Amino acid sequence: MSILSEILKANSKFQPPAEILDEDHAKSKLPAKHLAVVTCMDTRLVGYLEPAMGISRGDAKFIKTAGNCITGVFDGTIRSLLVCIFELGVKEIAVIGHHECGMAKTTADSLTNAMISRGISPDAIQMVHKDLETWADGFQQPEQNVIDTVAAIRSNPLIPKDVPIHGLMFHPREGSLEIVVDGYEDAKSTLTGKLDEAKSALESKKDEVKGAIESKKEEVSEKIDDAKSALESKKDEVKDAIESKKEEVSDKIDDAKETVSEKVSGAKEAVGNMLENLGAKLKS
Ligand SMILES: [Zn+2]
Repeated sequence: MSILSEILKANSKFQPPAEILDEDHAKSKLPAKHLAVVTCMDTRLVGYLEPAMGISRGDAKFIKTAGNCITGVFDGTIRSLLVCIFELGVKEIAVIGHHECGMAKTTADSLTNAMISRGISPDAIQMVHKDLETWADGFQQPEQNVIDTVAAIRSNPLIPKDVPIHGLMFHPREGSLEIVVDGYEDAKSTLTGKLDEAKSALESKKDEVKGAIESKKEEVSEKIDDAKSALESKKDEVKDAIESKKEEVSDKIDDAKETVSEKVSGAKEAVGNMLENLGAKLKS
């Protein structure tokens, strides 16, 4: 029986569990735990990782790729995360790698050889060769890959800084999870860094404003000094003008006095002469 027939046979007998029918589509598209999980497509994780995380249907978005890698600023996983965050209410991301990941053994060469032996055109392989190398050869150790994937999402300019991005490792046999990157710590230090940046920007702005005030003060004080000295020199000018006017007036008064006194003594002499003449006339 083909796999497709198996699927259809199974489906023909399938009845959704009663609780799912009761939900009347109530489990919305929005993940109840506001969580997106980026993990590997590994078959051992199917129906196993979710219960190991306490996650049920309707709780989270699962994005699965080979080796949970991020290969570019707008790769498929990033696109899905953007929809998760901006349209589906996702507030946290968990990148979950796993021990014994097959991607650690996959290389650009092994993939290339397998593709060529299946008749894939070398030209087509050449077209993606560089990306193939970056992706397949870049994955060497699952734990480091989780760290790199978290860092790639964290530094992506399209992902909001307040979304914590956790990194975890899952053990497919033991079913245990361990934290590799604590997204809360990471987000906290990012926020602290931002706060420090803002503080130092504020400090430098303060210094700038202080400097501007000082220079304005100096400018104003220079202007006041200029105005004062201009006033002083104007005062001196006016004083000199008054002095010289006073001298002029006083000279004029002296001149006038002299003229009057000359006129008076002239008149006196004339009167004396007249009196003399009169006296002589009376005697004769
Ligand atoms: Zn894997």
